[in-house]
Amino acid sequence: MEQQSSGPNPLCEVGKTHSRDRHRMRPLDGYPGVWVCTKHDLFATVVEKETAESIDRGDAFPMHDGSEGVASRHGDERPNGIVIYYRAAGS
Ligand SMILES: [Zn+2]
Repeated sequence: MEQQSSGPNPLCEVGKTHSRDRHRMRPLDGYPGVWVCTKHDLFATVVEKETAESIDRGDAFPMHDGSEGVASRHGDERPNGIVIYYRAAGS
């Protein structure tokens, strides 16, 4: 078995705000702990609570592949932290 992202796949952030477009994100191949929605070019990962509290929407957020990203909203609480959504900078 390949390594899985921790916990259930989170709802896509877009789906959270548009109840008619609810869908879940999928684990991103090659990046354990990262989820992706290819439809919305959105990513999510779990960060520690203290880290999450220091991140606001629009803040710079380093991406899983080292490129520049921008933090979006916070998602569900998980046993090991909080889901945070992010997308590539400039998209
Ligand atoms: Zn989506």
